[in-house]
Amino acid sequence: MEELVQRIKEDGRVLGEGVLKVDSFVTHQVDPDLMEAIGYRFAEVFAQAGITKVVTIEASGIAPALFAAKKLAVPMIFARKAKSLTMDEELLTSSVYSFTKQVTSQISISRKFLSSDDKVLIIDDFLANGQAAKGLVELCQQAGAEVDGIGIVIEKSFQDGRELLEQMGLRVVSLARIASLKNGEVEFLEGDA
Ligand code: 5GP
Repeated sequence: MEELVQRIKEDGRVLGEGVLKVDSFVTHQVDPDLMEAIGYRFAEVFAQAGITKVVTIEASGIAPALFAAKKLAVPMIFARKAKSLTMDEELLTSSVYSFTKQVTSQISISRKFLSSDDKVLIIDDFLANGQAAKGLVELCQQAGAEVDGIGIVIEKSFQDGRELLEQMGLRVVSLARIASLKNGEVEFLEGDA
């Protein structure tokens, strides 16, 4: 997605350890117009899939997922990373090792929001080693819901996430694909959606 690639070139910052900082438009301050364009692009790609729910994980997946859900005219559900006192009902849960925070946390969704009638589009801001997306897939599987695809805003193609998800038989659609973050430079791969 050209608009996103341009924005990463202009405002993305490479941190050590293969991390891209995009806090001025995705992960902290959020650009609503760009998020809308991203969400609508996902909706376009998955328009024929019969999606009934868009599922993401708090916090940075919420903005693009919400716009995708709006365009697909379905609800958006975000998995919570901390259990809320108000979540008293039965939960779907899985553990996710966080690439950036380097801790394992439990993620959860109330069972009442996902069922075997659902066809799910999973959306997240980054794909690194695929643990967040895999955790979301597991929540859907526990509910008996079908995962139709995974929409990623920024894929770091030099990590193993895509391979892991594709080996699980899942379709991965990324709007920007990064080949390398070496020497402080962002190099892109062709073949983004
Ligand atoms: P994975 O679970 O695929 O290893 O990592 C994906 C999660 O880690 C995303 O939800 C995102 O929050 C975070 N993440 C992974 N790589 C990066 C990165 O380079 N920059 C930022 N800002 N977040 C990242």
